[in-house]
Amino acid sequence: MKTLPSLFVSHGAPTFALEPGLAGPALTGLGQALPRPTAVLVVSPHWITPGVRVGLAETPATIHDFGGFEPALYQLRYPAPGHPAFARQALSLLEKSGWQPVADASRGLDHGAWVPLRHLYPDASVPVFQVSLPTDLDSQSAWKLGQALAPLKDEGVLIVGSGSLTHNLYEVRWGDKNGADYAREFSQWIREAVLAGDHQRLINALTLAPHAQRAHPTTEHFLPLLVAAGASGAEAGASVIEGGIEHGVLSMDSFVFSAFP
Ligand code: ZN
Repeated sequence: MKTLPSLFVSHGAPTFALEPGLAGPALTGLGQALPRPTAVLVVSPHWITPGVRVGLAETPATIHDFGGFEPALYQLRYPAPGHPAFARQALSLLEKSGWQPVADASRGLDHGAWVPLRHLYPDASVPVFQVSLPTDLDSQSAWKLGQALAPLKDEGVLIVGSGSLTHNLYEVRWGDKNGADYAREFSQWIREAVLAGDHQRLINALTLAPHAQRAHPTTEHFLPLLVAAGASGAEAGASVIEGGIEHGVLSMDSFVFSAFP
């Protein structure tokens, strides 16, 4: 069994499901290049709960947790099976690390999970389950959440933190391909910290990085990056999956945390 990398994936806007841009084909290529996972574990900012929860559904529904988009987006399904056995393993790993996780037998997949997975594994044949983002998570504890889940990688589970490298919805300019300078500068700073393997810089990014407050007026789309990095282990290398900047301010860059490829 090959130990898999962990990933941070920018899911951008829900329309990413229908408009692949640069990032979609790059994620599809990554999915083909990686060893096939036994399951995918997604931590997404669209499942935020008091305390941490783990989804145990055997056939998780596709949740269309967004409003005001074109009807075609609401027709999309991502019919991947769940993986209750690995989900139970996640529960026990979290308990061992001092979390008090709660099982959720009915929760489906939110768009932070299924939108990027449609690009990564288009045929929905790899089982998927989610771990929630606790409401009181901060940068340090996001890292620890990733660390707690890391042993699942040795079982062939692909740990994915799904978010958006920049995420200021107040400034979104639909369809604008000209990325704002501040979004580019923030993304570049993060990219350098990731490639340098500078974990302290990453953990402190929301106070150190240029334009951090503007790039992330709220932190929930950034913290999954720290979950993914925390799951990678101190010795891991990293590589960048170029996604460009969509809608003026949404950086679609993703990161692979490991010695792979
Ligand atoms: Zn989102």
